[in-house]
Amino acid sequence: MTTTAFAAGAVAVPRAIRAGSRAHRRGSIARPRTRTLPRAGFLNDMGVGDLGSSSSSASPVDLASSIGSAVGRTYADLFPDLPSEVLGVSVPGTAKALADAAKPATDAAFQTLPDDAKSGLADWWSREVDSGFTLVTGNAEYELALAVLLFLWATGRPGVFGGAFDSYFANAFDAVLLNKKFDKDSVKVRGKLGDGSFGSVSYAEDTGTGRDLVIKQAKSVQGAAQLQNAEEYMNRRVRRAPLVAGGCAKYLGSYDVVEGASSPTLVWAFEGDVTLEELIVRNDFPMCAEELLYGGERGGDDYAKRTSKVAKSVLRNLLSTLAGLHDIGIVHRDVKPANLVFMGRKFKLVDFGAAADLRTGKNYEPEQGLLDPFYSPPENFIMPERIPAPPPLRPLTASLSPLVWGAFLPDLFDSFSAGLVFLQMCVPQLRGRKVMDPNGSFRRLLDENNYDLRKWRKVVEPQGWDFSALDANLGLGWDLACRLVCKRNFLQRGRLGCNTALLHPFFWTP
Ligand code: ADP
Ligand code: MG
Repeated sequence: MTTTAFAAGAVAVPRAIRAGSRAHRRGSIARPRTRTLPRAGFLNDMGVGDLGSSSSSASPVDLASSIGSAVGRTYADLFPDLPSEVLGVSVPGTAKALADAAKPATDAAFQTLPDDAKSGLADWWSREVDSGFTLVTGNAEYELALAVLLFLWATGRPGVFGGAFDSYFANAFDAVLLNKKFDKDSVKVRGKLGDGSFGSVSYAEDTGTGRDLVIKQAKSVQGAAQLQNAEEYMNRRVRRAPLVAGGCAKYLGSYDVVEGASSPTLVWAFEGDVTLEELIVRNDFPMCAEELLYGGERGGDDYAKRTSKVAKSVLRNLLSTLAGLHDIGIVHRDVKPANLVFMGRKFKLVDFGAAADLRTGKNYEPEQGLLDPFYSPPENFIMPERIPAPPPLRPLTASLSPLVWGAFLPDLFDSFSAGLVFLQMCVPQLRGRKVMDPNGSFRRLLDENNYDLRKWRKVVEPQGWDFSALDANLGLGWDLACRLVCKRNFLQRGRLGCNTALLHPFFWTP
């Protein structure tokens, strides 16, 4: 099908549809044109005159050569109040380059639309262009701002379109095809793995298949069933997101111990029996971790460099898993070494009982405190307590979620915890099970120094604390730790998110 670009980089409209929409407008709607002369020039120069004007004869080839000179002038016509250069960079030129780069994607997306939607969109676009980009707000500048906001809303975390797909399609698919109900008689418990206040975790075997399993059962205490149900929900959400699922324990399904139980028993594949916590507290850390990560001790480098390498590898792995979870709207809220289980050459994240889904508001209550505050940031909540509870209507919550996420960055909760895990791997004096206790000396000293790691270091370094692993590689590890373990500012910002932390130059060093 022949297509012609009708604005720099904008979606291409098939000629047949444009002709159809023109005929439709001519035949049925006598709508006054609001087009002004300079803007008609702009439209012609951009190759869009034929959408509504009879004066254009620009072919796509002519367009390509004329567009460069046209765009600067017409930009000034459309947006007289906006600067045409920022820091010596041409704004119209950059906008055009971005639009050109996005053109293959926008063209392809357009082609996937049903014919009705295509012609509707083409018709709307031609009217928008005819009006000189003033159709919705009456002003081209406002129209631009609205377009930018809409773009951010549609593409920002936690992803409204991904969320709609997940809720309306993947969820149904999951319920019918993936959610295996285990036969409780075929699951034989072999031993205890963990015993928390709300649930107990056991090592088990599926006698039918011989597969090793991990099962989690809620205890009969208040709130335990609610947590268990939330954990089931989160695990199913994660399983439906293939890019994220690889970083988390493989969830297999559930069964009810007795009929009508208030919460199901959850089942995962058992893939490893060592947690990062167990490794960190050993005297031979990081060598014991090298054994697991690389299949043998590395040797060669000095202790500081070896520690830095192991910590980098674990942190990269952890940050990528967390960034993936944040992309789908889930904040884990219980990131700690005991919840990182070594499975098949990497550490996978377990224990989603405290996680919150901010796309739908599931398991998020503004004033709900934390179950385990050891690794939590000083703000203690993923969002300020004054933010009201999400509306009960899920589509409404989901539509508002990008605004809430953009304003309060709930993901920074997990990035602080990841920063503490990193610090703990690198500084030998922090490698104990109880060191992160909020009433312990480390957290108290950090608090006294307003969570400024640089100030804290000045106090503990003279006491002989070892920062060599963080100082290796030009001190880039130390810089990253300071940007993760810190307070947020009054705009809820000032700490790196997991996705931005992954771009830190520390990860570029060998
Ligand atoms: P809790 O809520 O009691 O902390 P977790 O889900 O963290 O429960 O599980 C407790 C422990 O069980 C973990 O620290 C880990 O050692 C082990 N564990 C949990 N899931 C798995 C799994 N899929 N494979 C291997 N071990 C696991
Ligand atoms: Mg746990």
